[in-house]
Formats: sequence, structure tokens, C-alpha cells
Amino acid sequence: MPDNEFWRRRVTIYLYHFSEPFGHASHYLGSAEDYEQRAAKHLSGQGASLLKAVRAAGISWELARQWNSVPRFHEARLHKMKANKGLCPTCSGKKAYNRGNYIEEGNVNNSDKAGNEADKCDDF
Ligand SMILES: [Zn+2]
Repeated sequence: MPDNEFWRRRVTIYLYHFSEPFGHASHYLGSAEDYEQRAAKHLSGQGASLLKAVRAAGISWELARQWNSVPRFHEARLHKMKANKGLCPTCSGKKAYNRGNYIEEGNVNNSDKAGNEADKCDDF
């Protein structure tokens, strides 16, 4: 697990659901220390190149889900899950909220053997 300060910095992780698929992509998962600022940049085409291309294709997106004040490394874990649809309430309904949650260190249930690891993703 990465443990340097950059990866431990608290960020907002956000999942965009596209109004229609763009090639193979139908979601965008990103993170920002200042979400509102980043969201505005995405809208003006100054953020991620994928979103710039999505917008140029006339596709819009909605903020489907947000993780507030979680360490940046959680985004890498969510990417690794390759489960944007499963994480997306627009696609998967309320059960999406049972997936990919960040578990705070210290909040891990001691009876949970898997809780040895301080912070982890929920299993699917
Ligand atoms: Zn979705």
C-alpha cells in the first residue's frame, strides 16, 4: 500500500456517468482536492482529456457518486476494481453504495479477520 503523503492526502473522489457511452467508456472516475474547481475545469474542457473528448462528442455526464474526504489511494483501488458500473448508483441502483466504500482506520470491526488491513475496499 502506498504510504507517502501524496497518496494519503484527503480528496474527493467522484464518478461521472455519461449520458451515452463514448467508445468503451461510460464512466469517468477521478479525484480532486477541490472538487468544485475540478468539476468546473472538466466542464470547460481544461480537465481530463477523456472528458474533453466526451464533451466534444456531444455527450454529457452527471455526478453519479462522490466519496468525500478519503485518501487519494482509494481512487487507485476503485480503478483496480474495474467496476465503474457496479459502483454507479445510476447503473446499479442502491446496491452500488455497498461497494467500494472506504473504511476508516479504527472503524474496522475487530471481529472481521480481513480487518487486519487498516483500510480496504468492500468485497464484491
Ligand atoms: Zn453508471
